[in-house]
Amino acid sequence: MTRELFREDSYLKTCTANVTESTGNLVRTDQTVFYPLGGGQPADTGQISWDGGRANVIDTRYVDGDIAHVLEEGSPLPQTGDKVDLSIDWDRRYRHMRMHTAMHLLGSVLRYGVTGGNISAEKSRLDFDMEDTVDKEAVGAALTELVAADRPVSCRWITEEELDENPELVRTMSVQPPRGKGAIRLLEIENVDLQPCGGTHLRSTGEVGAVRIGKVEKKGRQNRRVNIHLDD
Ligand SMILES: [Zn+2]
Repeated sequence: MTRELFREDSYLKTCTANVTESTGNLVRTDQTVFYPLGGGQPADTGQISWDGGRANVIDTRYVDGDIAHVLEEGSPLPQTGDKVDLSIDWDRRYRHMRMHTAMHLLGSVLRYGVTGGNISAEKSRLDFDMEDTVDKEAVGAALTELVAADRPVSCRWITEEELDENPELVRTMSVQPPRGKGAIRLLEIENVDLQPCGGTHLRSTGEVGAVRIGKVEKKGRQNRRVNIHLDD
């Protein structure tokens, strides 16, 4: 299995790795900084280079349960056992981190069930199970306040047993954790949000920066889609 360095430190932009498999245009390595598509967050893109070669990574996915870097069609391929340098498109990923963290803030402001969501570098959205209209101005002001408060953001792993022994954790969570995988990764924004999440986040909410509520769309009688944008 690939060691997922981005889950330990989301600020890693590069790493070295050894190629464990190289077939078609898919390359697997023993560790990576590339985030694979999942949890509403897009896959990382970037570059892979090795002695005598270099290629663009255009996508990252779980294929057969493990991470595969998808190389641009027609690229040269490193061989199994080669040492490679992996480098993500950091500007794009950092926007994903800002958006992803802003999504947690939005979910803490609008305390309704979340029925869907999507993150991109340009705009993101969360769908809420709610009939009420959304007061854009009030929600925007609450978001801005949480960003200005610069709350620390952290991740920790707990076992299902620890979770069972601390029922107050589940009560404070906005989403029930998935069971059956042994360890659960919790994302905590101090005094704001606690929920299971595997994505990449900022260190503190201040880094979200200028965030703005965009269109609020009515998707069915009981569903409101709230779009957010980064203003830079
Ligand atoms: Zn998250």
